[in-house]
Amino acid sequence: MEGNIGLTPVSSLGEFGLIDRITEGFSARNPGIIKGPGDDCAVLDKDESFYTLLSTDIMAEGVHFDLSYAPLKHIGYKAVSSNVSDISAMNGRSTGILVSIGFSNRFSLEAIDELFSGIRAACDFYNITLLGGDTSSSRQGLFISVTVVGEVEKDKVVYRSGAQEHDLICVSGNLGGALAGLKVLQREKDLFLNNPGIQPDLTGFEFVVERQLKPEARTDIIASLSEVAVLPTAMIDISDGLSSDILHICKQSKRGAVLYQNKLPVDYETDKVAESFQSTGSTYALNGGEDYELLFTVSIHDFEKLKGLKDISVIGHMTGTNSPVYIEASDGTQMEVIAQGWSHF
Ligand code: ADP
Ligand code: MG
Repeated sequence: MEGNIGLTPVSSLGEFGLIDRITEGFSARNPGIIKGPGDDCAVLDKDESFYTLLSTDIMAEGVHFDLSYAPLKHIGYKAVSSNVSDISAMNGRSTGILVSIGFSNRFSLEAIDELFSGIRAACDFYNITLLGGDTSSSRQGLFISVTVVGEVEKDKVVYRSGAQEHDLICVSGNLGGALAGLKVLQREKDLFLNNPGIQPDLTGFEFVVERQLKPEARTDIIASLSEVAVLPTAMIDISDGLSSDILHICKQSKRGAVLYQNKLPVDYETDKVAESFQSTGSTYALNGGEDYELLFTVSIHDFEKLKGLKDISVIGHMTGTNSPVYIEASDGTQMEVIAQGWSHF
């Protein structure tokens, strides 16, 4: 942009550099602020037994969703799921949401109804209350910002920073599916734009498309860990991709990690899609975002208790103080995991 000559593009810092910069120099000015920026949620003192958890996420048209293939109902649902997922990542329970929207006059009343039918479905599914929000017009496009509030017992809160050397690294569900779904939807959109006569065909890709359009927060995993009395030492939800999110745990826990490539849980459909795009399922698992699975570490002494649980894979272990993060292939070769670029700006 001509007016920006001599100024610094925001992209030069990357998302996390930018967040570090804008949050620098702020201090907790009131008692009862347990954790400010830097984890999946802010943590506030509530009463003798509980902390309050707070988190917020924006979804912007053209950046986080494309209305040519994402139904508004699903966008509403996903906006809630991604927030509830951040409460799960603190080992907490969501209780309510505030929903703010901005939209241009391109959106009809029916469209806004559809968006809120998804928000309502998510409130029913997660058993949470719509507490309020804000409504504005926008020059262009649709923005949705959801803020979630939740709670956690004080002795159960889990931060990104508690992982210890030798802890096992675990992940719920399978990874890379949301990226595979996005690739398939984009491919069908491009085909349609080049030849409006043909109908999109998503047969055989139902699983990955659902992973992209209708992710669920893993509140069930929090419940099953609690049932077997396993308290993770650190946890984060996978919103940016496994490589980025394991780096957050490692940086905040001041430890390194080794991940085993052949242990990464990847669905058959994800593998198939990745290969059709000249990539691999494990690359999608490492770099694809929006899976909203939970990545957590547990003490090795809890391994036996985890064994009976469904849908949890052990994918690696934590290493010593400030060590690098490696991904190890089946032939034993190790590659360092480095932060992925970020391209919103
Ligand atoms: P997540 O992927 O879990 O939603 P983010 O990567 O969006 O987390 O944010 C990481 C941390 O930085 C969070 O603690 C969040 O509250 C904080 N953060 C992000 N953007 C801002 C901002 N504009 N102002 C203050 N804090 C921010
Ligand atoms: Mg998160």
